[in-house]
Amino acid sequence: MKDINDTPKIDYNKCTGCKRCVGICPGLAIFVIKFKDKKALITLPYELLPIPKVEDIVIALDREGKPRGKAKVIKVNISNKTNVVTIEVERNLAMEVRNIKLD
Ligand code: SF4
Repeated sequence: MKDINDTPKIDYNKCTGCKRCVGICPGLAIFVIKFKDKKALITLPYELLPIPKVEDIVIALDREGKPRGKAKVIKVNISNKTNVVTIEVERNLAMEVRNIKLD
């Protein structure tokens, strides 16, 4: 991006799905979704405390903060800036869930 207010553009021919952008984006605006059979893995930025743990069952929230169901924490990358959490949800929630709340 030339300006921080520009909308990011991803070159899908070059993206390897490494997920590094999720923790780097200052606007917490990038999510990576991987479809896996009837489930979807959503990797999202998470800056709240406490930090979830792998295997935790958490509440999946939509963009408005409304609960959409349960999610299982699959991976947690702790950083000194933005932590990155991967959750597993039902496939039909892949484009709706964008945050989590610990139970
Ligand atoms: S996941 Fe993000 S950082 Fe990794 S290659 Fe794709 S766009 Fe770049």
